[in-house]
Amino acid sequence: MFKKIWKIIKEYDTIVIARHIGVDPDAMASQIGLRDAVSLTFPKKKVYAVGNGTSRFNYIGKLDKMESFEGALLIVVDTPDQKRVDLPDLSSFAYKIKIDHHPYVETFCDLEYIDDTACSASEIIMQLIENTKLCCNSKIAQTLFAGLVSDSNRFLFNSVTSNTFALVSRFLKNYPFDLSSLYHHVYSRPLSEVRLQGYIGENMIVTDNGVGYIKITEEILNKFHVDTASAGNMANEFNFIEEILTWVIITDDPKNDRIRINIRSRGPEVNKVAERYHGGGHKYASGAKVSTFEEAMLLVNELDEVAKQYIEEHNL
Ligand code: AMP
Repeated sequence: MFKKIWKIIKEYDTIVIARHIGVDPDAMASQIGLRDAVSLTFPKKKVYAVGNGTSRFNYIGKLDKMESFEGALLIVVDTPDQKRVDLPDLSSFAYKIKIDHHPYVETFCDLEYIDDTACSASEIIMQLIENTKLCCNSKIAQTLFAGLVSDSNRFLFNSVTSNTFALVSRFLKNYPFDLSSLYHHVYSRPLSEVRLQGYIGENMIVTDNGVGYIKITEEILNKFHVDTASAGNMANEFNFIEEILTWVIITDDPKNDRIRINIRSRGPEVNKVAERYHGGGHKYASGAKVSTFEEAMLLVNELDEVAKQYIEEHNL
């Protein structure tokens, strides 16, 4: 399949690389890493990485602006369904490729490569580079590593295998880059976020079935001087708490007039529940959107049921 993707990349002079809305480091890194690898290999091709960015991820690279997609090749990374692609219209592309590591949701491209065992979309782009004549350099390797290390939560998730470590090892050897300066960018955060983390730890409610949840209202966001995305992104910080199997951060999103939900788990599978609340994602890391805190509590109750079953099935 990598050879097929390579052949199609070779055919097109204009290539647009898109990814999901609500950009995160893996979506952005896989997109920018692929763009830069294609540009390095084919300097005459026009290659664009598009979508809404955030200054938070400036260290990964710059996005491009593009007016017309007529006749171009589209490659969508890290996105399982069309409605989550951060592009207004997919109809004018000549050919579409999907490269993703989410569980399958729908087919919307001409060629789809899905490996839901991969720890990140960036890992798949690294494999694509290794298995084709796509060129790489230290900057591209560093970008892709940033995506991989973020989505695997520093190699903590069980989607990380010996193959992941071997792949990273080869990239570090072949295209050396400075890990510590990268970690500085990936993990630096303002004190306001650490203070909010303390608030979450103190106020999280934990059910008998190990579901921890916290509601972060607009008032709390203002009190701690953080935005909705920063609060939600904190979900990864609450892993490995003995009493908690599933945890949910429910954050007011006043700008979009909705409530954003970030769900993580270290056992019960959460994506099916998320899908019932305008969301989705991975088995153990999902997101959803609801209109009210009451609706969010319905989701928490469903997760509690799933956690209960999990505890019974595993004699915990
Ligand atoms: P997050 O909690 O935002 O980091 O998202 C965790 C995972 O769930 C990522 O793979 C996202 O792409 C996915 N996800 C988050 N929100 C949604 C949503 N509203 N619909 C579908 N997938 C989502």
